[in-house]
Amino acid sequence: MKKSIMLLVIILFIFINGFCIFYVTKQTNKVKVSLRGNDYVKIGFGSEYNDEGVFIKRGDKELSLDDMDSYDVISNVDLSNVGIYEIKYNFKYEGVDYNLVRKVEVVDYTAPQITTNVNEVTIGYCDSKAVDNLDYKAVDDYDGDITTKVVKEEKDDKFILSVTDSNGNTTTKELRKIQSEKPADKITLNGKSYMNVVVNTTYEEPGAYISDGCGNKLEGEVEIKGSVDTTKVGKYDITYTAKDNKELKAVRTVNVYEKKATDGVIYLTFDDGPGGYTSQILDVLKKYNIKATFFVTLGGSDAIIKREFDEGHTVALHTATHNYKVMYASLDAYLNDLQQVSDRVKRITGTESKYVRFPGGTSNRVSKVAMSEVAAAVTSRGYEYFDWNVCVEDAGSCVSASDKRACVVSKFKSGISSKRSNIVLLHDIKSYTAAGLEEMIKYALNNGYTFRAIDANTSPVHFKAYR
Ligand code: ZN
Repeated sequence: MKKSIMLLVIILFIFINGFCIFYVTKQTNKVKVSLRGNDYVKIGFGSEYNDEGVFIKRGDKELSLDDMDSYDVISNVDLSNVGIYEIKYNFKYEGVDYNLVRKVEVVDYTAPQITTNVNEVTIGYCDSKAVDNLDYKAVDDYDGDITTKVVKEEKDDKFILSVTDSNGNTTTKELRKIQSEKPADKITLNGKSYMNVVVNTTYEEPGAYISDGCGNKLEGEVEIKGSVDTTKVGKYDITYTAKDNKELKAVRTVNVYEKKATDGVIYLTFDDGPGGYTSQILDVLKKYNIKATFFVTLGGSDAIIKREFDEGHTVALHTATHNYKVMYASLDAYLNDLQQVSDRVKRITGTESKYVRFPGGTSNRVSKVAMSEVAAAVTSRGYEYFDWNVCVEDAGSCVSASDKRACVVSKFKSGISSKRSNIVLLHDIKSYTAAGLEEMIKYALNNGYTFRAIDANTSPVHFKAYR
Protein backbone atom coordinates (compact mmCIF):
# COMPACT_ATOMS: atom_id res chain seq x y z
CA MET A 1 0.00 0.00 0.00
CA LYS A 2 1.18 3.47 -0.77
CA LYS A 3 2.00 5.74 2.09
CA SER A 4 -0.64 8.26 1.04
CA ILE A 5 -3.39 5.64 0.87
CA MET A 6 -2.26 4.29 4.21
CA LEU A 7 -2.59 7.76 5.71
CA LEU A 8 -6.06 8.20 4.23
CA VAL A 9 -7.15 4.88 5.70
CA ILE A 10 -5.82 5.89 9.11
CA ILE A 11 -7.52 9.30 8.86
CA LEU A 12 -10.74 7.66 7.76
CA PHE A 13 -10.46 5.14 10.59
CA ILE A 14 -9.98 7.88 13.15
CA PHE A 15 -12.79 9.91 11.64
CA ILE A 16 -15.26 7.04 11.57
CA ASN A 17 -14.32 5.92 15.05
CA GLY A 18 -14.42 9.44 16.30
CA PHE A 19 -17.80 9.90 14.75
CA CYS A 20 -18.97 6.66 16.31
CA ILE A 21 -17.65 7.62 19.74
CA PHE A 22 -19.33 11.00 19.41
CA TYR A 23 -22.57 9.41 18.24
CA VAL A 24 -22.65 6.85 21.06
CA THR A 25 -22.01 9.57 23.64
CA LYS A 26 -24.84 11.66 22.20
CA GLN A 27 -27.23 8.64 22.28
CA THR A 28 -26.34 7.89 25.92
CA ASN A 29 -27.12 11.41 27.10
CA LYS A 30 -30.56 11.63 25.44
CA VAL A 31 -33.45 12.01 27.99
CA LYS A 32 -36.62 10.03 27.33
CA VAL A 33 -39.82 10.89 29.24
CA SER A 34 -43.29 9.40 29.10
CA LEU A 35 -46.26 8.55 31.34
CA ARG A 36 -46.28 5.19 33.00
CA GLY A 37 -49.56 3.48 32.19
CA ASN A 38 -52.27 4.95 30.00
CA ASP A 39 -52.68 8.62 29.39
CA TYR A 40 -56.45 8.22 29.79
CA VAL A 41 -57.58 6.29 32.84
CA LYS A 42 -61.16 5.36 33.82
CA ILE A 43 -61.81 4.64 37.44
CA GLY A 44 -64.89 3.72 39.45
CA PHE A 45 -66.30 6.42 41.72
CA GLY A 46 -65.46 5.84 45.34
CA SER A 47 -62.62 3.44 44.57
CA GLU A 48 -58.91 3.99 45.16
CA TYR A 49 -56.59 5.34 42.53
CA ASN A 50 -52.85 4.84 42.54
CA ASP A 51 -51.15 6.93 39.95
CA GLU A 52 -48.26 5.18 38.19
CA GLY A 53 -46.32 8.38 37.70
CA VAL A 54 -43.85 9.16 34.94
CA PHE A 55 -41.02 7.33 33.29
CA ILE A 56 -37.72 9.20 32.87
CA LYS A 57 -34.64 7.66 31.34
CA ARG A 58 -31.30 9.19 30.56
CA GLY A 59 -29.28 6.78 28.56
CA ASP A 60 -29.51 3.46 30.35
CA LYS A 61 -30.26 5.07 33.63
CA GLU A 62 -33.77 5.45 34.97
CA LEU A 63 -34.37 8.62 36.87
CA SER A 64 -37.07 9.72 39.26
CA LEU A 65 -38.71 13.10 39.65
CA ASP A 66 -36.46 13.69 42.61
CA ASP A 67 -33.50 13.66 40.25
CA MET A 68 -34.94 16.56 38.26
CA ASP A 69 -33.81 20.14 38.71
CA SER A 70 -37.37 20.93 39.80
CA TYR A 71 -40.78 19.35 39.47
CA ASP A 72 -44.44 19.94 40.21
CA VAL A 73 -47.32 17.44 40.05
CA ILE A 74 -50.76 19.05 39.96
CA SER A 75 -53.89 16.91 40.26
CA ASN A 76 -57.54 17.92 40.55
CA VAL A 77 -58.83 14.35 40.67
CA ASP A 78 -61.90 14.07 42.95
CA LEU A 79 -62.72 10.41 43.48
CA SER A 80 -66.01 11.22 45.17
CA ASN A 81 -67.43 13.01 42.16
CA VAL A 82 -67.97 11.77 38.66
CA GLY A 83 -65.99 13.81 36.09
CA ILE A 84 -62.90 14.11 33.92
CA TYR A 85 -59.80 15.34 35.70
CA GLU A 86 -56.13 15.98 34.90
CA ILE A 87 -52.86 15.13 36.52
CA LYS A 88 -50.10 17.45 35.27
CA TYR A 89 -46.42 16.58 35.66
CA ASN A 90 -44.22 19.59 35.06
CA PHE A 91 -40.48 19.21 35.52
CA LYS A 92 -37.20 20.68 34.39
CA TYR A 93 -34.04 18.79 33.68
CA GLU A 94 -30.75 20.07 32.34
CA GLY A 95 -32.42 23.30 31.32
CA VAL A 96 -35.24 21.61 29.43
CA ASP A 97 -38.94 21.89 30.48
CA TYR A 98 -41.10 18.78 30.30
CA ASN A 99 -44.91 18.84 30.60
CA LEU A 100 -46.94 15.64 30.65
CA VAL A 101 -50.70 15.32 31.25
CA ARG A 102 -52.79 12.31 32.16
CA LYS A 103 -56.57 12.46 32.03
CA VAL A 104 -58.46 10.57 34.72
CA GLU A 105 -62.14 9.95 34.30
CA VAL A 106 -64.06 9.12 37.48
CA VAL A 107 -67.03 6.99 36.46
CA ASP A 108 -70.06 5.62 38.35
CA TYR A 109 -70.15 1.99 37.33
CA THR A 110 -72.45 0.87 40.14
CA ALA A 111 -76.11 0.38 39.39
CA PRO A 112 -78.69 1.48 41.95
CA GLN A 113 -80.45 -1.05 44.16
CA ILE A 114 -84.17 -1.57 44.39
CA THR A 115 -85.39 -3.15 47.59
CA THR A 116 -88.85 -4.50 48.29
CA ASN A 117 -90.23 -6.33 51.29
CA VAL A 118 -91.73 -9.03 49.15
CA ASN A 119 -90.94 -10.92 45.97
CA GLU A 120 -94.52 -11.56 45.03
CA VAL A 121 -97.65 -9.52 45.36
CA THR A 122 -101.14 -10.89 45.60
CA ILE A 123 -103.65 -8.48 44.21
CA GLY A 124 -107.37 -8.55 44.50
CA TYR A 125 -109.30 -9.32 41.35
CA CYS A 126 -111.03 -5.94 41.53
CA ASP A 127 -107.91 -4.04 42.42
CA SER A 128 -106.97 -2.46 39.12
CA LYS A 129 -104.46 0.04 40.45
CA ALA A 130 -102.34 -2.50 42.30
CA VAL A 131 -99.20 -1.18 40.66
CA ASP A 132 -99.67 2.11 42.49
CA ASN A 133 -99.61 0.43 45.86
CA LEU A 134 -96.30 -1.37 45.57
CA ASP A 135 -93.87 -0.71 48.36
CA TYR A 136 -90.24 -0.29 47.36
CA LYS A 137 -87.15 1.81 47.80
CA ALA A 138 -84.33 2.64 45.38
CA VAL A 139 -80.92 3.73 46.58
CA ASP A 140 -77.86 4.57 44.52
CA ASP A 141 -74.34 4.82 45.86
CA TYR A 142 -73.82 8.03 43.94
CA ASP A 143 -77.27 9.71 43.81
CA GLY A 144 -78.60 8.51 47.16
CA ASP A 145 -82.33 7.82 47.47
CA ILE A 146 -83.85 7.77 43.99
CA THR A 147 -87.11 6.04 44.88
CA THR A 148 -89.08 8.74 43.09
CA LYS A 149 -87.29 7.88 39.84
CA VAL A 150 -88.53 4.29 39.82
CA VAL A 151 -90.61 3.41 36.79
CA LYS A 152 -93.35 0.88 37.44
CA GLU A 153 -94.80 -1.40 34.87
CA GLU A 154 -97.40 -4.12 35.04
CA LYS A 155 -96.77 -6.85 32.53
CA ASP A 156 -98.58 -10.18 32.32
CA ASP A 157 -97.85 -11.97 35.57
CA LYS A 158 -95.30 -9.56 36.94
CA PHE A 159 -94.56 -6.07 38.08
CA ILE A 160 -91.35 -4.60 36.72
CA LEU A 161 -89.62 -1.87 38.64
CA SER A 162 -86.71 -0.11 36.99
CA VAL A 163 -84.56 2.83 37.86
CA THR A 164 -81.61 4.53 36.24
CA ASP A 165 -79.10 6.59 38.14
CA SER A 166 -77.77 9.93 36.93
CA ASN A 167 -74.79 8.16 35.35
CA GLY A 168 -76.89 5.86 33.25
CA ASN A 169 -76.68 2.67 35.31
CA THR A 170 -79.98 0.83 35.30
CA THR A 171 -81.43 -1.77 37.63
CA THR A 172 -84.64 -3.65 37.19
CA LYS A 173 -86.48 -5.79 39.66
CA GLU A 174 -89.37 -8.08 38.96
CA LEU A 175 -92.09 -9.01 41.40
CA ARG A 176 -94.35 -11.92 40.71
CA LYS A 177 -97.95 -10.87 40.41
CA ILE A 178 -100.55 -13.23 41.79
CA GLN A 179 -104.06 -12.35 40.79
CA SER A 180 -106.79 -13.55 43.08
CA GLU A 181 -109.81 -15.39 41.80
CA LYS A 182 -112.78 -13.47 40.62
CA PRO A 183 -115.08 -13.05 43.61
CA ALA A 184 -118.69 -14.19 43.43
CA ASP A 185 -121.64 -11.92 42.80
CA LYS A 186 -123.04 -10.31 45.92
CA ILE A 187 -125.46 -7.83 47.40
CA THR A 188 -123.89 -4.43 47.80
CA LEU A 189 -125.43 -2.09 50.37
CA ASN A 190 -125.89 1.58 49.72
CA GLY A 191 -124.54 3.29 52.82
CA LYS A 192 -122.89 1.62 55.77
CA SER A 193 -123.53 -1.90 56.99
CA TYR A 194 -123.70 -0.54 60.55
CA MET A 195 -125.71 2.62 60.88
CA ASN A 196 -126.22 4.78 63.94
CA VAL A 197 -129.56 6.53 64.18
CA VAL A 198 -130.56 8.85 67.00
CA VAL A 199 -133.78 7.81 68.71
CA ASN A 200 -136.91 9.71 67.62
CA THR A 201 -135.37 10.78 64.35
CA THR A 202 -136.02 9.06 61.03
CA TYR A 203 -134.33 6.15 59.34
CA GLU A 204 -134.33 6.31 55.57
CA GLU A 205 -133.71 2.99 53.91
CA PRO A 206 -130.65 3.44 51.69
CA GLY A 207 -131.37 0.24 49.75
CA ALA A 208 -129.05 -2.24 48.11
CA TYR A 209 -128.31 -3.73 44.72
CA ILE A 210 -126.98 -6.91 43.17
CA SER A 211 -123.44 -6.55 41.98
CA ASP A 212 -120.59 -8.59 40.64
CA GLY A 213 -117.76 -9.39 43.01
CA CYS A 214 -116.16 -6.04 42.32
CA GLY A 215 -119.26 -4.07 43.22
CA ASN A 216 -120.39 -3.29 39.66
CA LYS A 217 -124.12 -3.09 39.50
CA LEU A 218 -126.00 -6.00 37.90
CA GLU A 219 -129.61 -6.35 36.84
CA GLY A 220 -132.05 -7.86 39.35
CA GLU A 221 -134.36 -7.04 42.20
CA VAL A 222 -133.49 -7.00 45.91
CA GLU A 223 -136.04 -7.91 48.57
CA ILE A 224 -135.75 -6.03 51.84
CA LYS A 225 -136.96 -7.59 55.10
CA GLY A 226 -137.01 -6.10 58.55
CA SER A 227 -137.82 -2.70 59.94
CA VAL A 228 -136.42 -0.10 62.27
CA ASP A 229 -138.46 1.36 65.12
CA THR A 230 -136.79 4.70 65.58
CA THR A 231 -138.87 5.41 68.68
CA LYS A 232 -137.12 2.60 70.56
CA VAL A 233 -133.46 2.31 71.42
CA GLY A 234 -132.04 -0.96 70.11
CA LYS A 235 -130.31 -2.74 67.26
CA TYR A 236 -132.31 -3.68 64.19
CA ASP A 237 -131.22 -6.00 61.39
CA ILE A 238 -132.38 -5.42 57.83
CA THR A 239 -131.93 -8.33 55.45
CA TYR A 240 -131.42 -7.91 51.73
CA THR A 241 -131.92 -10.89 49.41
CA ALA A 242 -131.71 -11.19 45.63
CA LYS A 243 -135.18 -12.10 44.34
CA ASP A 244 -133.86 -14.52 41.76
CA ASN A 245 -131.06 -15.98 43.84
CA LYS A 246 -131.76 -16.48 47.54
CA GLU A 247 -128.10 -17.33 48.09
CA LEU A 248 -127.23 -13.69 47.64
CA LYS A 249 -127.85 -12.05 50.96
CA ALA A 250 -126.61 -9.12 53.01
CA VAL A 251 -127.49 -7.71 56.41
CA ARG A 252 -127.39 -4.19 57.71
CA THR A 253 -127.54 -3.40 61.43
CA VAL A 254 -129.22 -0.18 62.42
CA ASN A 255 -128.38 1.03 65.91
CA VAL A 256 -131.02 3.34 67.34
CA TYR A 257 -129.41 5.14 70.24
CA GLU A 258 -129.95 7.97 72.65
CA LYS A 259 -127.64 10.80 71.93
CA LYS A 260 -125.47 11.86 74.80
CA ALA A 261 -124.64 15.49 74.51
CA THR A 262 -121.03 15.64 75.58
CA ASP A 263 -120.39 19.13 74.29
CA GLY A 264 -119.81 21.40 77.24
CA VAL A 265 -119.43 18.51 79.66
CA ILE A 266 -116.66 18.83 82.25
CA TYR A 267 -114.97 15.85 83.85
CA LEU A 268 -113.11 17.10 86.90
CA THR A 269 -110.34 14.60 87.52
CA PHE A 270 -108.18 14.78 90.63
CA ASP A 271 -104.83 13.02 90.74
CA ASP A 272 -102.42 12.02 93.49
CA GLY A 273 -104.88 11.79 96.42
CA PRO A 274 -106.37 11.15 98.74
CA GLY A 275 -104.59 14.00 100.43
CA GLY A 276 -105.00 16.78 102.93
CA TYR A 277 -107.46 18.74 100.78
CA THR A 278 -109.60 15.94 99.41
CA SER A 279 -112.29 16.32 102.09
CA GLN A 280 -112.54 20.04 101.39
CA ILE A 281 -112.95 19.25 97.69
CA LEU A 282 -115.60 16.63 98.43
CA ASP A 283 -117.51 19.21 100.46
CA VAL A 284 -117.56 21.66 97.55
CA LEU A 285 -118.63 18.98 95.10
CA LYS A 286 -121.41 17.95 97.48
CA LYS A 287 -122.61 21.53 97.81
CA TYR A 288 -123.11 21.75 94.05
CA ASN A 289 -124.14 18.10 93.61
CA ILE A 290 -121.32 17.55 91.17
CA LYS A 291 -119.74 14.19 90.44
CA ALA A 292 -116.03 14.01 89.76
CA THR A 293 -113.28 11.43 89.31
CA PHE A 294 -110.42 10.70 91.69
CA PHE A 295 -107.32 8.94 90.35
CA VAL A 296 -105.97 7.66 93.62
CA THR A 297 -102.65 6.36 94.93
CA LEU A 298 -101.70 4.26 97.95
CA GLY A 299 -101.47 7.43 100.05
CA GLY A 300 -104.12 9.05 102.26
CA SER A 301 -106.83 7.38 104.25
CA ASP A 302 -109.14 4.60 103.23
CA ALA A 303 -112.03 6.56 104.72
CA ILE A 304 -111.70 9.32 102.14
CA ILE A 305 -111.69 6.87 99.25
CA LYS A 306 -114.77 5.29 100.81
CA ARG A 307 -116.41 8.71 100.99
CA GLU A 308 -115.53 9.47 97.33
CA PHE A 309 -117.17 6.23 96.31
CA ASP A 310 -120.21 6.58 98.57
CA GLU A 311 -120.90 10.09 97.33
CA GLY A 312 -121.13 8.89 93.75
CA HIS A 313 -117.72 9.90 92.46
CA THR A 314 -115.65 7.62 90.30
CA VAL A 315 -112.68 6.16 92.10
CA ALA A 316 -110.01 5.51 89.49
CA LEU A 317 -106.45 4.28 89.45
CA HIS A 318 -103.37 6.50 89.33
CA THR A 319 -100.42 4.68 90.81
CA ALA A 320 -99.10 2.89 93.89
CA THR A 321 -95.64 4.44 94.05
CA HIS A 322 -95.80 7.50 91.77
CA ASN A 323 -92.11 6.85 91.38
CA TYR A 324 -91.33 6.99 87.64
CA LYS A 325 -88.05 5.16 88.02
CA VAL A 326 -89.70 2.25 89.78
CA MET A 327 -93.08 2.01 88.06
CA TYR A 328 -91.85 2.62 84.51
CA ALA A 329 -88.75 0.39 84.79
CA SER A 330 -90.51 -2.33 82.81
CA LEU A 331 -93.97 -3.39 81.73
CA ASP A 332 -94.10 -5.88 84.61
CA ALA A 333 -93.12 -3.15 87.05
CA TYR A 334 -95.91 -0.94 85.73
CA LEU A 335 -98.55 -3.68 85.87
CA ASN A 336 -97.43 -4.57 89.37
CA ASP A 337 -97.77 -0.94 90.45
CA LEU A 338 -101.23 -0.73 88.90
CA GLN A 339 -102.29 -3.97 90.57
CA GLN A 340 -101.40 -2.62 94.01
CA VAL A 341 -103.53 0.48 93.68
CA SER A 342 -106.30 -1.56 92.05
CA ASP A 343 -106.27 -3.95 95.02
CA ARG A 344 -106.59 -1.06 97.44
CA VAL A 345 -109.58 0.40 95.64
CA LYS A 346 -111.27 -2.97 95.41
CA ARG A 347 -110.69 -3.60 99.10
CA ILE A 348 -112.28 -0.27 100.06
CA THR A 349 -115.11 0.02 97.52
CA GLY A 350 -115.76 -3.61 96.76
CA THR A 351 -115.52 -2.76 93.07
CA GLU A 352 -112.74 -3.16 90.59
CA SER A 353 -112.00 0.17 88.93
CA LYS A 354 -111.13 0.01 85.26
CA TYR A 355 -110.15 3.64 84.73
CA VAL A 356 -106.48 4.51 84.69
CA ARG A 357 -104.41 7.63 84.52
CA PHE A 358 -100.72 7.23 83.78
CA PRO A 359 -98.49 9.47 85.90
CA GLY A 360 -97.01 11.98 83.46
CA GLY A 361 -99.65 11.04 80.88
CA THR A 362 -99.29 8.69 77.94
CA SER A 363 -96.89 11.12 76.29
CA ASN A 364 -94.35 11.08 79.12
CA ARG A 365 -90.78 10.49 77.98
CA VAL A 366 -89.51 9.25 81.31
CA SER A 367 -90.82 5.73 81.01
CA LYS A 368 -88.23 3.10 80.16
CA VAL A 369 -90.92 0.93 78.65
CA ALA A 370 -92.64 2.36 75.57
CA MET A 371 -95.89 4.00 76.68
CA SER A 372 -97.61 2.60 73.59
CA GLU A 373 -96.81 -0.82 75.02
CA VAL A 374 -98.10 0.14 78.46
CA ALA A 375 -101.28 1.58 76.91
CA ALA A 376 -101.83 -1.57 74.84
CA ALA A 377 -101.25 -3.74 77.90
CA VAL A 378 -103.80 -1.97 80.09
CA THR A 379 -106.33 -1.82 77.26
CA SER A 380 -106.02 -5.54 76.63
CA ARG A 381 -106.69 -6.09 80.34
CA GLY A 382 -109.98 -4.26 80.11
CA TYR A 383 -108.89 -0.85 81.42
CA GLU A 384 -109.47 2.49 79.77
CA TYR A 385 -106.84 5.16 80.28
CA PHE A 386 -107.48 8.88 80.37
CA ASP A 387 -105.20 11.75 79.55
CA TRP A 388 -106.66 15.25 79.62
CA ASN A 389 -107.45 18.21 77.39
CA VAL A 390 -107.54 20.88 80.08
CA CYS A 391 -104.71 21.33 82.56
CA VAL A 392 -105.05 23.83 85.40
CA GLU A 393 -101.28 23.70 85.92
CA ASP A 394 -101.62 23.18 89.68
CA ALA A 395 -98.58 20.91 89.52
CA GLY A 396 -97.03 22.93 86.68
CA SER A 397 -96.59 26.59 85.92
CA CYS A 398 -99.00 27.81 88.64
CA VAL A 399 -96.74 26.37 91.34
CA SER A 400 -94.42 29.33 90.92
CA ALA A 401 -97.19 31.93 90.41
CA SER A 402 -97.52 34.68 93.01
CA ASP A 403 -101.23 33.87 93.41
CA LYS A 404 -101.46 30.15 92.81
CA ARG A 405 -105.20 29.96 93.42
CA ALA A 406 -105.93 32.71 90.88
CA CYS A 407 -103.53 31.10 88.41
CA VAL A 408 -105.28 27.74 88.62
CA VAL A 409 -108.75 29.29 88.30
CA SER A 410 -107.71 31.33 85.29
CA LYS A 411 -106.15 28.27 83.58
CA PHE A 412 -109.43 26.44 84.17
CA LYS A 413 -111.53 29.26 82.70
CA SER A 414 -109.39 29.66 79.61
CA GLY A 415 -108.95 25.91 79.14
CA ILE A 416 -112.53 24.66 79.06
CA SER A 417 -114.59 24.74 75.88
CA SER A 418 -118.34 24.42 75.37
CA LYS A 419 -117.74 22.83 71.95
CA ARG A 420 -116.34 19.57 73.27
CA SER A 421 -116.11 17.32 76.26
CA ASN A 422 -113.49 18.57 78.75
CA ILE A 423 -111.30 16.29 80.81
CA VAL A 424 -109.69 18.57 83.36
CA LEU A 425 -106.53 17.56 85.21
CA LEU A 426 -106.35 18.77 88.82
CA HIS A 427 -104.60 17.57 91.98
CA ASP A 428 -106.44 17.12 95.26
CA ILE A 429 -103.21 17.40 97.21
CA LYS A 430 -102.96 21.14 96.41
CA SER A 431 -104.46 23.68 98.82
CA TYR A 432 -104.87 26.32 96.13
CA THR A 433 -106.76 23.90 93.87
CA ALA A 434 -109.16 23.11 96.69
CA ALA A 435 -109.43 26.82 97.44
CA GLY A 436 -110.19 27.70 93.81
CA LEU A 437 -112.61 24.87 93.10
CA GLU A 438 -115.81 26.68 94.04
CA GLU A 439 -114.98 29.59 91.76
CA MET A 440 -114.25 27.20 88.89
CA ILE A 441 -117.55 25.38 89.39
CA LYS A 442 -119.59 28.61 89.62
CA TYR A 443 -117.99 29.94 86.46
CA ALA A 444 -118.71 26.71 84.56
CA LEU A 445 -122.33 26.46 85.73
CA ASN A 446 -122.95 30.11 84.87
CA ASN A 447 -121.66 29.41 81.38
CA GLY A 448 -123.91 26.44 80.72
CA TYR A 449 -121.45 23.63 81.42
CA THR A 450 -122.45 20.37 83.04
CA PHE A 451 -120.33 18.06 85.18
CA ARG A 452 -119.97 14.31 85.02
CA ALA A 453 -117.85 11.64 86.55
CA ILE A 454 -115.98 9.32 84.22
CA ASP A 455 -117.93 6.20 83.40
CA ALA A 456 -118.06 3.55 80.69
CA ASN A 457 -119.61 6.02 78.24
CA THR A 458 -116.89 8.60 78.58
CA SER A 459 -114.79 9.12 75.47
CA PRO A 460 -111.24 9.21 76.67
CA VAL A 461 -108.58 11.70 75.67
CA HIS A 462 -105.44 9.88 74.56
CA PHE A 463 -102.11 11.55 74.13
CA LYS A 464 -99.80 10.12 71.50
CA ALA A 465 -97.09 8.00 73.01
CA TYR A 466 -93.78 9.16 71.60
CA ARG A 467 -92.77 5.55 71.20
ZN1 ZN B 1 -99.72 12.14 89.51
